[in-house]
Amino acid sequence: MSLQTISGQATAKRMLGASLRSGRVSHAYLFSGPGGSSRRKVAEAFAKALLCERGAELGDACGECLSCRKVEHGNHPDLQTVVPGGASIKIEQIRELQKMFSYRSGSAGRKVYIIDEAEKMTVQASNSLLKFLEEPPAPAVAILLSENGQALLPTIRSRTQLVPFTSMGAEDILSELAAEGLATPAARCAAYLTPGPDECRELAAENWFAEIRNVVIQLGKESIGRSGASLVTAQQKVFKGGLGEHLESLFDLFHLWFRDMIHVQSERREHIVFIDQMEFISQVAGSRSTEYWIACMSMTAESKKKLKSNMNTQLCLEQFLVELVPLAGSI
Ligand SMILES: [Zn+2]
Repeated sequence: MSLQTISGQATAKRMLGASLRSGRVSHAYLFSGPGGSSRRKVAEAFAKALLCERGAELGDACGECLSCRKVEHGNHPDLQTVVPGGASIKIEQIRELQKMFSYRSGSAGRKVYIIDEAEKMTVQASNSLLKFLEEPPAPAVAILLSENGQALLPTIRSRTQLVPFTSMGAEDILSELAAEGLATPAARCAAYLTPGPDECRELAAENWFAEIRNVVIQLGKESIGRSGASLVTAQQKVFKGGLGEHLESLFDLFHLWFRDMIHVQSERREHIVFIDQMEFISQVAGSRSTEYWIACMSMTAESKKKLKSNMNTQLCLEQFLVELVPLAGSI
């Protein structure tokens, strides 16, 4: 793997490539933003390039030198990775890192360490790292990874160069998956709910995700009628079916479902997410006003908020389904 072979994250890759080529490598980088797997991939590729014999010349790893091969085999002595041991990164882990780095290594060159989920460092671990950043025992480059760099101590943040990470667009995720023959209807939904292709593949492969997607389709169809069928379905398929813990995804999918109705109304069928339900969506979209579908989307957002504030999950879904019906009469 090299920087150039990783898809997406153009800004981050450009910054890092320029850093390598100009020889102005910082002591510490903070990779911050969504997409855990692409943060890790870019960090590994950058570390490899920093250690590569031709890294400065290529602005990337060559993939052929001894150092590159060691990184690929996961046994380069000058590259260390720290991940949370349980819920946090503890001071012992940072001390261990410092100890590893104070040993003399095979080469006189720089050392690199990656700290994944850096926001999980305890205050003691952060303070210990801070000293390390200020006075490394040998030339070292720190790569700190975080979903939200703002969550790190300001004293650490101010000593790092920020490298921003962004969610990859759903269409780009889908074209990558399509090239692998994985563009299933479930993957199409997952692409809109995940920051990158790896997360999308993972989510689409979950059984519960396929199940809850089917439930959304069924509830979406039932809530067009006026019977209480959707409440029965919610009870049986969601709560008795063991899907109660995935309500947030259910509301996310409902949001996409309602948005599909608007896509049909505005003749943008190529954006439809529930492509396997195209026929039904085409039939129903025009039977309600655009305001109605927008109000439905707001309701899904409201329900997600209620979930986050710890409302009882069953009550939350039932309230949502009950409120959908009079809404149809009023708009
Ligand atoms: Zn190399």
